[in-house]
Formats: sequence, structure tokens, C-alpha cells
Amino acid sequence: EKADRIRAWQGPAQTSDGYRVQLLANVQDGAAARKAAAPGIAEGVGLFRTELAFLSAQVEPTLEEQTAVYLEVFEAFRGHKVVVRTLDAGSDKPLVFANMPNEENPSLGVRGMRIALDRPELMTHQLDAIKAAAEASDVEAWVMAPMMSTVSEAEWFAGLCRERGLFPGVMVEVPGVALRADKVLEHVEFFSIGTNDLSQYTMAADRMSPYLSTLTDPWQPAVLRLVQLTAEAGQRAGKPVGVCGEAAADPLLACVLTGLGVTSLSAAAPALAAVGAQLSAVTLDQCRRAAAAAVDAKGSIEAREEATAILGG
Ligand code: PEP
Ligand code: MG
Repeated sequence: EKADRIRAWQGPAQTSDGYRVQLLANVQDGAAARKAAAPGIAEGVGLFRTELAFLSAQVEPTLEEQTAVYLEVFEAFRGHKVVVRTLDAGSDKPLVFANMPNEENPSLGVRGMRIALDRPELMTHQLDAIKAAAEASDVEAWVMAPMMSTVSEAEWFAGLCRERGLFPGVMVEVPGVALRADKVLEHVEFFSIGTNDLSQYTMAADRMSPYLSTLTDPWQPAVLRLVQLTAEAGQRAGKPVGVCGEAAADPLLACVLTGLGVTSLSAAAPALAAVGAQLSAVTLDQCRRAAAAAVDAKGSIEAREEATAILGG
């Protein structure tokens, strides 16, 4: 019966009382984008993991090579929003041309946009290519940087984007950014919360470790509290706050995130129909009550149980 409901569900996503939530797809290249666009459920791309498109590159791809890759994704979602993430190299995503060699503790090392602080040309070349692809296509291109930690980093990144007429945002993966969300949002236009890394860094637990999956569970109330702080800052500033980590693919957690004030959910395309169907079965008030209960719960198991009882899942 649930499977029938998911199959029959049609977008756009909204709660039973008509509160809209944007559903977006996570993609890594043109082929994935075309596949994600085909069912007509994804309203755009919420996370284009550009580093995954260049895993086999031995040297930095040229402006033309990069532009072609970005253009393919933009063309698959013509007329829609596509959030491009700048290179998130390092740690679990090795890129030959961008990696820092031999770090003792790579997930706490020079990864994501931190690489660009040392090698700004990697960032500026990429932004030039994104701009060229955006100009060659009819798409609403947003650009965000991963692993941001400080207000100054956000200001620097936003400046580079604005010089090129690009719409800048920041990924919230480091707890320090969630705690200073208002100040960071003075410099950028949107947030996208990466719950995979936000969980890892909030709970000090390696996201790759099978032994620590209870700690890296995005139902951990401490993680949800940081999501709440971030979403509330977005509401105060009138700027959108999405979630693009695995949490957005969990239908009940998607309702909780909505109740916390998150305005869009981005996940692997096959997960979106179940999320949309679950949202259509609950009210915004249920989402808000489930969110309050989950943030106040004793632990991740209780958070899930209490939210599930309120959402009737
Ligand atoms: C995240 O950290 O939640 C995220 C979306 O980025 P990635 O999984 O690519 O690190
Ligand atoms: Mg991440």
C-alpha cells in the first residue's frame, strides 16, 4: 500500500495542508542529471558534486573541459535551478590534481574549499567555467563551496562569485558555521546543509567508520539542533536553507527537516518520490511538532521514535 502511494505520487512536493518544499536531485555528471530529470519529480539539482566528474583527471581540467561538463548538467535541467558545488577534494574524495599529500587526519585537513585558500586559481578557473556554462544555457545557476568554516571564507568566496555575476552560497558542514549562521548569511544568498559531514564533525565520528554509525546518524539531536539554528537564521534573513545530505532521503527525517524550517531537500533521485509521498501525508503542524520532539529527545533512537509517532509513519 505504501509502495502504491509512492508510485502514484506526483509532484510538486507539499504537505497535506499545502506547504511547499522544493525537491531536488544530487548528481555528479551529465548522465546522472539526465537520469534524474527523466521522471519529472526533481525540480532541479540541489547538489552537483563536481569533484566526482573529475576523479580520473590527472591534471586540472581546462576551462573548455570544465565548461562542457557543467553545460551537460545544466542542459538536463534547462529552465530550473542547479546548485553547483565547487570542488570538494580531499578526505574521502581524492583528486589527483588538487589533493594535499599524506595528511595524518585528512577529514580534518586541507579539504574542500580550504584547498583554494592555497591554490585560488583552482577556484577561479572553476567559477569562470561555471559562468561560461551558465551563460550558454537557460538555467538558474547557484554556486556553493564545501567545508566552509569562517565568516571570512564565506566573504571571500562570495566576492569571487559576485565578480562573475554568480549567486553564492555556503555549505553548512562545519558546526562552527551553523553556530554563526546569521553572520555568515550577511555575505551569501543561501545555505545548503551537508548532513553527512555536519554529523561527522558534530559528533566527532568518522562518517566512513562502520563502528560509529550510531554517532553519525543524522537523527542525533545535536545535529538536528544545528540544522534548526541554521534554518532559523535563514528565516530571519529571508534566505533559503536546503539540506543535501543523506538525511534528506529519509522520508520521516525529511518531514522533521521541513518542520525545522528547511526550504528544500536534495537527495539521490530514486529517493525523491518516497519523500514527496510522505510529506503529502502529514501537515506542516505535524512536521513542526515532530521537529520539536526530535530536537528535545534524549538520543537519536528516541528522536526517531517520537517523531515517527507524531508523523504517523
Ligand atoms: C554532506 O556532507 O552531507 C554532503 C552533501 O556532501 P558529501 O556527502 O559530498 O561530502
Ligand atoms: Mg560533505
